[in-house]
Amino acid sequence: MRYLILGCGPAGISAAKAVRGKDKKGEIVVITEEQGPPYLRPLLTELIMGRADVAGIADPQAQNLADRGIEVRRGKRAGKIDSAGNRVLFTDGAEEAYDVLLVATGGKPEIPPLLEKEHPSIFPFDSLDDTLRIADRVPRSGTVAVYGPGFLAIVASSALRKRGNDVVWFQPDLPRSGYPISGELEANILDSVRNTGVRIRDGQDIVAIREAGGGIEIESTEKGERVRCLAVVVATERIPAIGFLSGSGVKTGTGVVVDDYFRTSVPNIYAAGDCAELFDGGTRISRINFGWRSAIKQGRIAGENMAGAGKRYVREESDYFWALFGPALLDRIR
Ligand SMILES: Cc1cc2nc3c(=O)[nH]c(=O)nc-3n(C[C@H](O)[C@H](O)[C@H](O)COP(=O)(O)OP(=O)(O)OC[C@H]3O[C@@H](n4cnc5c(N)ncnc54)[C@H](O)[C@@H]3O)c2cc1C
Repeated sequence: MRYLILGCGPAGISAAKAVRGKDKKGEIVVITEEQGPPYLRPLLTELIMGRADVAGIADPQAQNLADRGIEVRRGKRAGKIDSAGNRVLFTDGAEEAYDVLLVATGGKPEIPPLLEKEHPSIFPFDSLDDTLRIADRVPRSGTVAVYGPGFLAIVASSALRKRGNDVVWFQPDLPRSGYPISGELEANILDSVRNTGVRIRDGQDIVAIREAGGGIEIESTEKGERVRCLAVVVATERIPAIGFLSGSGVKTGTGVVVDDYFRTSVPNIYAAGDCAELFDGGTRISRINFGWRSAIKQGRIAGENMAGAGKRYVREESDYFWALFGPALLDRIR
């Protein structure tokens, strides 16, 4: 049996280990587009603040995978799935066969066209490479703008503020999904962010950016407002990274549509973690359970089922974002 797992985040790693727990002999290969060893994405802000280095945020879950007979291949991006031929085609021209496939490719930030361009003062914030770029190139003092609707913009603003920057946070809108912060909690969080000195531009979008003396001038939807800054950190919502499934026959909505066993519409293909859209037969609502622990739990069950367990996912409200990895959000801000 050959198990192929796309993505080496928490969902992919926990799935690989769970497969091994059930199938001692099968071949397990995890493939990811990232070049470096797996890391704890929730601790990326520690790098921005200079409180940890890359080794300090290594993912302990990924230790000893080779000893368990789990092969990890890096730097390879899946480009297409040939589900009739049980093959994954990679963008470098290589292909890999599978008997059972797991899609655990997580999410990628949705960046508005205005901020999408390659520009020395625009910094996406999602991966380790992005974060190293921010840590290296964004000066530790002076004004930095943060752009994004939700959780990632909150943690980015707080981290930049703590390292010494003046921060202006453009919060254009509510996130489209995965934002259970509301009511009193949201008010408390925003107050805490504000109290640290972050200037929140609630409901304001960026409509134009211009070069301005080694930095950027931002024009926002607030009439007459111009903000000059050294850099713009783009911390937007993560949207499932599943474009390569187009034409594969795997049913997708916002994410890969899965049932309570993490099975997709193609029998030998599963999906778990931030890329999976779980359909709840009870409420008839589909949703994506963003979050580190949720990804581990989903990956584990998916992995067991790939090896024949037939285990059903039991929903718990805490799986949905609240079971965050790391310190509570309010503690991170203060
Ligand atoms: C900056 C930041 C801070 C966060 N902080 C927290 C937090 O404090 N608490 C919390 O619970 N959650 C946090 N999250 C969310 C959390 O990291 C995710 O929920 C979790 O990583 C999802 O795990 P995953 O395995 O589904 O996907 P991911 O961790 O996204 O891993 C997917 C992997 O697949 C790879 N991949 C994508 N496309 C392809 C392809 N085509 N071919 C091959 N490989 C591919 C990706 O490069 C990535 O390595 C944070 C996220 C970010 C970006």
